[in-house]
Amino acid sequence: MSRPVLFVIDDDAGVLHALRDDLGRRFGEDFRVIGESSAAAGLATLRGLADAGEPVALLIVDHDLSGMPGVDFLARAHAMHPLAKRVLLVERDYSARSPIVAAMTLGQADYHITKPWTLEQVLYREVSGFLAEWAKDQQVGFELFDVIGREDRDTLELREMLTKFGEPFRFFSADGERGRQLLAERGLGTSQLPVVIRHDGHILVRPTLAQMIAAVGGNTVADVTECDVAVVGAGPAGLTAAVYAASEGLLTVVLEETVSGGQAGSSPMIRNYPGFPHGVSGYELTRRSCEQAWMFGAHMLFAQLATGLERRGGKHIVHLADGHQISAEAVIVATGIAWRRLGVPRLEALVGSGVFYGAAGSELRAMEGHSVFVVGAGNSAGQTTLSLARYAREVTMLVRGDSLERSMSEYLIREIEATPNITVRLRTEVSDGHGSDHLEALTLHDKQHDRTEQVPAAALFVLIGGEPRTQWLPETVQRQWGYILTGRDVVRDGSHPSRWPLDRAPLPLETSIPGVFAAGDARYRSIKRVASAVGDGATAVRLVHEYLGAEDEDELPVASAGSLGR
Ligand SMILES: Cc1cc2nc3c(=O)[nH]c(=O)nc-3n(C[C@H](O)[C@H](O)[C@H](O)COP(=O)(O)OP(=O)(O)OC[C@H]3O[C@@H](n4cnc5c(N)ncnc54)[C@H](O)[C@@H]3O)c2cc1C
Repeated sequence: MSRPVLFVIDDDAGVLHALRDDLGRRFGEDFRVIGESSAAAGLATLRGLADAGEPVALLIVDHDLSGMPGVDFLARAHAMHPLAKRVLLVERDYSARSPIVAAMTLGQADYHITKPWTLEQVLYREVSGFLAEWAKDQQVGFELFDVIGREDRDTLELREMLTKFGEPFRFFSADGERGRQLLAERGLGTSQLPVVIRHDGHILVRPTLAQMIAAVGGNTVADVTECDVAVVGAGPAGLTAAVYAASEGLLTVVLEETVSGGQAGSSPMIRNYPGFPHGVSGYELTRRSCEQAWMFGAHMLFAQLATGLERRGGKHIVHLADGHQISAEAVIVATGIAWRRLGVPRLEALVGSGVFYGAAGSELRAMEGHSVFVVGAGNSAGQTTLSLARYAREVTMLVRGDSLERSMSEYLIREIEATPNITVRLRTEVSDGHGSDHLEALTLHDKQHDRTEQVPAAALFVLIGGEPRTQWLPETVQRQWGYILTGRDVVRDGSHPSRWPLDRAPLPLETSIPGVFAAGDARYRSIKRVASAVGDGATAVRLVHEYLGAEDEDELPVASAGSLGR
């Protein structure tokens, strides 16, 4: 097979030649650089490459081709070369009007290059990054596990678990030729499925979560029983707390019910985490934090559910579901929220590329002129719908129940009714999504008439709520709607049955139990963003130091009610 293609199209001959030459000089040994200057010629060339089975690695397309907007060209080109990465070539215009802003939000491009470029600092470094991502997607071959099972619940759960781990695996039906052969070679029958065969021949029959974690090298057994700080939950908040605590010399234990990553870990694309202009996969981001915490010496314990917390002998004791206990000087609770999910696999795969959980913020402007949908019937769904209506051509609210009155404030309902480009569809659910790399359409199910229809959709905002995972904590941890009160919100007078016991005010992020801190989504008034959870995790460790009196008192801020409280 010939070298993969870097395809460039720009109708400005100067830009086209410069880019072709610059790319050829650096990448010419491994890639063929092909340039075109008109949309028609470009599509014909790409069709020829597709027919000949020639792989295209990058589609670098000017945003303003004469006769066809760059994003439309990208869509047609990508349909012919679905494995290619899509790069939009844009002017140096760091304003919200730049076409890359909407293209990224709507999942119509993967990356951008700004014109003019500097060679070493920008073009070569960035294109190398795009190519590394492209190469990653092409990798075939090494699979860590073979899974043999049937289309049943146990097998499905196992496959979901391995996907969450991010470990490569192959699935074989126990009724297929290869599946039967793999079982027979190892003297196994089909009575106990699923079976997992690790690359080195190690076999697991109907493995538990803990066994699978052990099989990928994760630790599930408490190797210390006493520590300086116990962090409960290994999402962005807990992992960051672990990185800072361990790196600052605290003996740190992290307790996580499943594997690391939390909600963020399941998001295919996080676009608003600082430092990643083209987005970063939640799995990649949290995997790196987990490794970093481990490198600093944090004891990471997976498949360990915290079930209780008590104060005994001057220490905080965390109880685990397997009966073990961890004794800690301080505890950071970072157990997040169990978000309700739509549970539609094709929509879950498009999270970050047209499907968004939570209110619209940075995405609003990109909705200009599009048809967008909101799922939910609460106040946040109502507010998001109204914000979107200022930009989008039309906004449709999808409501499962038969009215908004029970769940939404009346003033919002009135505003929604008075806004001409909003439609409310009651008794309607989203049953499927369509689009390979970004959302293009939804299938809606009208429950009343039991009818389904497919509608074009540029974006879907899901606001169906969730529950903070704090039920395992004792009554003495004050909560509001399940969210943990911290700092200034902790009730200090006798009006609360579990009042703050000390004369000093709680530190920011400190709960109503001195020395127990809360970070991330589980905290009352938290921002529900990855970066905020990360900030909370780092801040909590600073406050743990303060609580433990481990640092020079003179350098510490005075902790008084209101001075630092939130
Ligand atoms: C689909 C989706 C997409 C999102 N996209 C974005 C985005 O693009 N940008 C953005 O900024 N935010 C996004 N968010 C929000 C973001 O993921 C959260 O704000 C963030 O993950 C909160 O981090 P956390 O560490 O507080 O909690 P979590 O990430 O929820 O982590 C909590 C961890 O605690 C563990 N745990 C819970 N209870 C226990 C217990 N009793 N014992 C042991 N462990 C326990 C859980 O298993 C989990 O691993 C998204 C959320 C969802 C659901």
